[in-house]
Amino acid sequence: MLGVLGGGQLGRMFTIAAHQMGYQVTVLDPDVDSPAGRIADQFICADYADQTALQKMRVQCAAITTEFENIPAEILAQLAEVCPVSPDAQSVAIAQNRIAEKQYLQHNDFSVAPFTVIDRTTAIDLVQDLFPGILKVSQFGYDGKGQRQVGDQIGLRAAFAELGEVPCVLEKKLPLTCELSIVLARDANGGMESFPVIENQHVNGILDISIVPARIDTALARRADTMARRLADTLNYRGVLCVEFFVAQDGLLCINEIAPRPHNSGHFSVDACITSQFEQQVRTLCNLPLGNIILHQPCVMVNLLGDIWRGEVPDWTRILGQPSAKLHLYGKKEARPGRKMGHFTVMDETIENALANALHIRKSLTI
Ligand code: ADP
Ligand code: MG
Repeated sequence: MLGVLGGGQLGRMFTIAAHQMGYQVTVLDPDVDSPAGRIADQFICADYADQTALQKMRVQCAAITTEFENIPAEILAQLAEVCPVSPDAQSVAIAQNRIAEKQYLQHNDFSVAPFTVIDRTTAIDLVQDLFPGILKVSQFGYDGKGQRQVGDQIGLRAAFAELGEVPCVLEKKLPLTCELSIVLARDANGGMESFPVIENQHVNGILDISIVPARIDTALARRADTMARRLADTLNYRGVLCVEFFVAQDGLLCINEIAPRPHNSGHFSVDACITSQFEQQVRTLCNLPLGNIILHQPCVMVNLLGDIWRGEVPDWTRILGQPSAKLHLYGKKEARPGRKMGHFTVMDETIENALANALHIRKSLTI
């Protein structure tokens, strides 16, 4: 019995991978109708800090992982006293707090966008050269939520008030040529497998499309891979880690943020690789050898947001009618705008064909 903290789509795909390998799964999530909870062998519906629920997890699980970086890190530390937990509390504590994350990266000589911590109104007066910038809440932001673009100190003051004066990071807005990510798995002995570099396109702060392999030169791909591996080593990380990168116009490669878990941009691996990011999560959690991550074919993953429902279920034959496209739905009942409901992956012999086909399918779903 494996345990997973969090019952979203990432937990659901972890559960599917674990089931495929013969494991049972216990899911803990406060939402009665969570995507992973619905397919779990045991679903504990409770708050992450609920001691009775955590006691149940400790007793019945042989190892515990997380699909959600906002699990309080102390809870992971507490579980780890009696049960193998990966990733470890320290890595999660860094990834779940933008201030800690940026400072950790900077301290360890990883390039990041120029930033400053804004945690009280007076700090605003000291800001000079970070405009235009993006003010981001330090905790609990996702899919571009908890962020405001600011052009000057007046805008910054207003945005900080609007975000409730919670601790924030102000980052310089970089002119990006592209965004990349690396998803890797690292085992307890430091063995690593990293998936090919992923090229990500965001719309309104939400991942829209991932293109694999990224359409970049091999030198840049190697730099991103080396940086992600060095970070995983520095963290002495165990589990699946995603590192998101910005490529700025001057060729500067910097780390945007990290996720201590499988990542939306790695979903292509379920259909297009020998071993998926979720199977790697199971393997690292259970101390099993890492799988081979070879990519069968170039591919493109497209997110399906609730926006395309508009009162009725989209016509899935638009995807299923294409032999090289694979549809994944997360079993969420309510399709709200901006909510990730599923995704599809299109494979082809060339990345150009996969992209053209994926965009064609996406267009046909929205008309
Ligand atoms: P989230 O936690 O919501 O994913 P991110 O910090 O990754 O937040 O921001 C979401 C997206 O907003 C990024 O993928 C990128 O497209 C854009 N963005 C964020 N920060 C910057 C920046 N400093 N410069 C340019 N674009 C940015
Ligand atoms: Mg991000």
